[in-house]
Formats: sequence, structure tokens, C-alpha cells
Amino acid sequence: MKLSNYIGGQWVEPENGRYIPDVDPGNGEVLAEVADSTRRDAERAILAAKEAYDSWRKYPAPKRGEILFAAGHILQAKKHELAQKMTREMGKVYTEAAGDVQEGIDMAFYMAGEGRRSFGYTTPSELPDKFAMATRDAIGVAGIITPWNFPMAIPTWKIFPALVSGNTVVFKPASETPLLAYELVKILAEAGVPDGVVNLVFGSGDEVGETIISDPRVNLISFTGSTQTGRHVAQVAGEELKRVSLELGGKNAIIVLDDANLELAVEGILWSAFGTSGQRCTACSRLIAQEGIYDRLEKSLTERIARLRLGHGLDDSTDVGPLITEKAVDKVHSYVEIGQNEGARLVTGGNRPSSSGSLGKGHYYTPTLFADVAPTMRIATEEIFGPVLSMIRVKDLDEAIRVNNGVAYGLSSSIFTQDVNRVFRAIRDLATGIVYINAGTTGAEIHLPFGGTRGTGNGHREAGTAALDFFSEWKAVYVDYSGRLQRAQIDA
Ligand code: NAD
Repeated sequence: MKLSNYIGGQWVEPENGRYIPDVDPGNGEVLAEVADSTRRDAERAILAAKEAYDSWRKYPAPKRGEILFAAGHILQAKKHELAQKMTREMGKVYTEAAGDVQEGIDMAFYMAGEGRRSFGYTTPSELPDKFAMATRDAIGVAGIITPWNFPMAIPTWKIFPALVSGNTVVFKPASETPLLAYELVKILAEAGVPDGVVNLVFGSGDEVGETIISDPRVNLISFTGSTQTGRHVAQVAGEELKRVSLELGGKNAIIVLDDANLELAVEGILWSAFGTSGQRCTACSRLIAQEGIYDRLEKSLTERIARLRLGHGLDDSTDVGPLITEKAVDKVHSYVEIGQNEGARLVTGGNRPSSSGSLGKGHYYTPTLFADVAPTMRIATEEIFGPVLSMIRVKDLDEAIRVNNGVAYGLSSSIFTQDVNRVFRAIRDLATGIVYINAGTTGAEIHLPFGGTRGTGNGHREAGTAALDFFSEWKAVYVDYSGRLQRAQIDA
């Protein structure tokens, strides 16, 4: 199967004719050949998006919403097939892949409804016989650049609000997950998105990504990826004064206080730390435990981690799938060595499974627990993006909050306690964009704002109505029906 670019409503070969393999990280099988496009392909896509913009922005918003409704129904009908493809392409276990597709379905229906809302407001004028209102305008061409870890959810969080707001799109998915991007764009075309309104260009960040962020015809950039790439995106796009939304790395923590329900906390920790093999931006990689529960928690977690089964995500018995690439496995392992050299205690895991047998052809790593981790160690402050959890001991809630807030990232945090007073202090003081009470660090719902503080981003939020604030521009309108010149602030 060949995955070509989609430009101006046509599936087109990359101009250099080059394709590279798209591989299953669980067993090395080649799933498809994907276009390895160049700057020129990206420029053709940008031109197509630019040309389609004027008629799309004037296309009635409720009608734009109806196309998203149609896309939501197709996604729903194909949920099982798409989830299977996702597991094969990206590695996450089937149930999680189905959840990823479900986020896309939810976002389609939610944003479709915004076609009939996208509320502005009216407000009284300070002058007589004068009417004042604020409305939302489209902005232009949206450059959408996405990572591989949520191959359906993240593109839909960006593309659907961009479209309902009247923008046209140039979409560059991660090189590791082109198949799901191809399926999504095919669905949008089938749902009735007019030619040129959504354009898809496969290729590297250096070539295609760089063209999108630097080309002055692209008016806004919605980027999700690593903090390092995000910083570069902000600098390049900033030169052109583009509007830029960045959703970047995390170093999320779960706090467990002495009075917590231990079994519930363990369930939340396992799901947050080892789901998607720790490759979620909201994954829990720090466990901040109060001293009275620390040892019991360590014991219980160690027993449960030993029972987690590694394997291909389509195998029903698998709990933890592969990492995305061998390079990712090397990175995780290098952090395990760093942790040991820093003096943390390796409790379980910390190795690649034997290369003989069914795991031999995939990129697997054993779920890993470190204890006696100091909050300043590199394993407790840097994003590892794999199945590695670091336990930190604290005296009380104040220290737990200080440790939670003491890293460069601020995406998600969670606390397990039964004390309502501490719950509300935590809600007030945890400096993250998302806070969970008696649940793990993952599980965002699409109608609430999603994003992080500090190094996790630049202050924008995705999802919910917050997404519309990014993808539209406010326009203030004054209508004077007095028949005379009235000067604001001057004529009483
Ligand atoms: P990455 O930064 O390597 O790549 C992200 C995207 O940027 C890819 O499409 C890539 O091709 C592109 N890119 C690379 N160089 C570019 C350049 N010079 N110009 C333009 N685009 C370029 O990240 P990744 O490894 O794909 O994803 C993992 C990271 O994403 C983690 O740090 C994770 O925390 C983060 N993430 C954050 C969120 C969030 O919402 N905060 C969600 C998911 C993932």
C-alpha cells in the first residue's frame, strides 16, 4: 500500500517519487510505503490551502459543522478497523487505540455542534443609538503538526476546530504514524470537505515541518511534540508573527497521601505510568508518596508490575505494548542507567526482554520502578517517555506540592486522599493545567480545556471552547444608527 500526499483534493505522488516504509513497532512488519516529501510538496499544499480559504471562510459555519457530523459518523462506523490499524502502526494495546479513535469521534460531534454556536456576544454601547458586538472570524491557513503517540486524537483536536472556525489546513503528521493520518483525511474527503480545504503532506520535520512553520502564507501553527522541537517552532514561526499553539512535554506526578485508598491508588498509578508504555504526554512518571504509606505502596506496586504482560497490542493478554522505535528503547535504557548512577534504587524492570521469542522483533522494554528517588535527580525531572516510574518520599502535603511544582513542566497532576480539605488545597496549589482527584494523571475529556503550564506549552489550550479561541480571531463591530458623529470617550 502506498500513502501519497493529498493536495487540492487529489492524491498525488511526492515530486521526488520517494517512499519510505511504515513499520509495526511490535514485530517489524512493513505496513505501507509512505511519501518522503520535500519542501516543494509542502509549498503546493500551502498554495492549495490558501486558494481554498476565501470560499471556505464564507461557507456557513452550520454547514461546516454538518461535514464534521458526517465525518464523526464515518469514524464511528470504522472505529474497530481504525483501532486495529493504530495498534499495528503505533503499538498501543487495542483497547487504548479504540479510546484514541473515540476521542476523534467525540471531537467531531462536539465541534460539529460549534458550527451552530461559535458564540460571540453583544454588549451595550456607551453612546446612544449605537450597537456593539464581538464576533469570531476565521484566520487563514492552519499548519497542523502532530506527534505519533495519539495518531487520531491529536490531529482531530486540531483539524476539527480549525475547520469549523473557517480555516483551511495543511496537515503534517508524525513520520511514525502516516497510516492513521491517511485514513483520517480520506474520511474527511468522504464526509464532503471541499477540495483544498484539508491538505496532507507526509515527510520529515526538517523538510516538510520546517516549510510549514516558516512559510508566510501559513497564518497559524498548532503544534504538539517535544519541548525541544516546540521551542524551535516558536522561534521560526515567531519571525513571521504567526499565532502559535504549543503542546509539549510533561513530567507528571501522582501524589498519594497516607489516608488514600491504597488499592485505588495502585490501579490509577499502573494505568497512568504503564498505559501506552508510558508514552502519553500525561503519563505519570513520578510517584510522590507520603512516608506513612510509601512502603506499602512500593510493595503493592512491585507485585502488580511483575504481573504486567508485555506483548503485541493486538494480543488480548497484553497489558503493555512496544515502544515506538529502537531509538526510544535506547533512550529509556540510558535513563535507567542514569538513575542507577544517581543513586536511585532499581526495584523492578530496567531491561529489554530477551530478544529470542515473540518479543524479539519489536521494541519492548520492561515496566520499571525506581524507589528512593530524590526530587532533583534527572530521572525525576526530565521527560523519559517510556515505562519508568520514580518514587519520591515526602513528609506532608506541602512538601508533595513543592515537589510536584518543582519541575520545568506543568501538564497534569493527581492526588489520592480522602480528606476534602487537602483536596481543595491541592486544587488551588498544584501548578498544572490539569488536576485529577482520586484518579491517575490521564483521561482528559474533549469538552474541557487541555494543556499545560510552564515548559509544557505557551499558554494556549486545546479542546473545549478554548480551542475556538485559538482557531478564530475576535472582531469588534460598532453600528452607529444615530445619524451623527458620536465620539467614544469624548461625547458624554
Ligand atoms: P517531536 O517533537 O519529535 O515531533 C513532533 C512533530 O514535529 C512531528 O510531526 C515531527 O516530524 C515534527 N517536527 C520535527 N522537527 C520539526 C521542525 N524542525 N519543524 C517543524 N516540525 C518538526 O515529538 P514526538 O517524538 O513526535 O512526540 C513526543 C513528544 O510529544 C513528547 O515530548 C510528548 O510529551 C509530546 N506530546 C505532548 C502532548 C501535549 O498535549 N502536551 C501530547 C502528546 C505528545
